[in-house]
Amino acid sequence: MSKRILIVDDAVFMRMKLKDILEKNGYEVVAEAQNGAEAIEKYKSENPDLVTMDITMPELDGVSALREIKKINPNAKVIMCSAMGQQSMVMEAIQAGAVDFIVKPFETDRVIKSLEKASL
Ligand SMILES: [Mg+2]
Repeated sequence: MSKRILIVDDAVFMRMKLKDILEKNGYEVVAEAQNGAEAIEKYKSENPDLVTMDITMPELDGVSALREIKKINPNAKVIMCSAMGQQSMVMEAIQAGAVDFIVKPFETDRVIKSLEKASL
């Protein structure tokens, strides 16, 4: 069974890029969300194995969405997607229970390593 992934990012291009990497490596992208609020809704409806979560988004940011998702499922596996210079947000996310983080631009090897680590 391939792992079911929810991709969260406000940038269409980033979602496309990540989806491409994941699907080429045997993961199933079951849903996409473009802000934190949508991420929570999709998490509830799809119950994915793993979430990739952008940090900076309108409506609700990624760290807040992570906290809400962890309330729904304390074992939820969320990987943060950060831009350069977001170290403090990443630290906050790790403390809030994110399993790992990947830095944009996405590199296939790094993305897949992170997902494999998160799936353990
Ligand atoms: Mg963003």
